[in-house]
Amino acid sequence: MNDTRADRPLQIAVTIDDFVLWDGVPAVDDVSPTDTTRSVAKTLNEYGLTGTYGFSHTYRLDNEPEHMAAFDAWAEAGHHLGNHTHQHAPLRWMSDDAFRNDFEIAEKYIGHLIEAAPSKYFRYPMDMSSGSERRRGEVEEYIGARGYRNAPITSWFSDFAFIVPYFRAVTLGDKEFQAQIRNLHVSTAVDMLYRHADTARTLFGADAPLIWLVHGTPISRDTLAPIFEAFLERGVEFVTLDEAMKHPMNFGMPPCAESFTNHLQRFALAAGIPKPELDLEQLGEIINFAPIPGIDTMSTYEEGLFKPLAKRVGAEYDWDWS
Ligand SMILES: [Zn+2]
Repeated sequence: MNDTRADRPLQIAVTIDDFVLWDGVPAVDDVSPTDTTRSVAKTLNEYGLTGTYGFSHTYRLDNEPEHMAAFDAWAEAGHHLGNHTHQHAPLRWMSDDAFRNDFEIAEKYIGHLIEAAPSKYFRYPMDMSSGSERRRGEVEEYIGARGYRNAPITSWFSDFAFIVPYFRAVTLGDKEFQAQIRNLHVSTAVDMLYRHADTARTLFGADAPLIWLVHGTPISRDTLAPIFEAFLERGVEFVTLDEAMKHPMNFGMPPCAESFTNHLQRFALAAGIPKPELDLEQLGEIINFAPIPGIDTMSTYEEGLFKPLAKRVGAEYDWDWS
């Protein structure tokens, strides 16, 4: 493989997921999902990114209807919404009927906002294709018949791993920790963007427009502007999701995989080349940052989020981080 690693102009379509964050992940008391969403939406507009697609599950609206204000604020700021299912469970954890039902519950909550977007997009929870070509094919047919296309992720930076550490740094009131982890968030975003870009170039022979993901979290609220500045300094050009979707890397389908991988990583797996990902050492530094006993990053996800989710949808818990 040629080492093409260099800062260079790239096209990216920004997408923001789960600005109403998953149930079971801690949040600082005085920060509401609606406040965070408003702030993220405003920053996007300041960078000329009006019309950014957001994909947020709708599960928390069942018990906390006040979070509908976050979806409304997103749309009012000029951004678009896609369907990301209701419960945010991997396809493999649900029957076909349950998955479709879940999609339709999300539509009941936010279908009117999805309809207002110029194109209707669906994003699989965690971008997981869940291992079965037949099952994914059926989902693709189902969403296609309803006028949707899959909006995959072709660049991410494991930003989920920063959410709990940032919560801890804020809870500790440690400004130095907060600044350090924000800087790490920005540098990791840049590093991983170019790792994905290099993989795309190796696979497709030229740079391809990447569909970039960050979650709508408090740390993103506080770092989105510096991330965009760092991207722009390196010659990044922002494009719309519709524009990025014209490239076969994004509209084509890599073979399914059960692993926790994004769309581009699955192309890499199929081609037998290393997938772009954080080194374990980097990931370890992030998840262990600003420790507080009893608020461990991975146990928060496993015990607070994934195990209750598996139980709720009647699946056996089989999460594999690798
Ligand atoms: Zn999601």
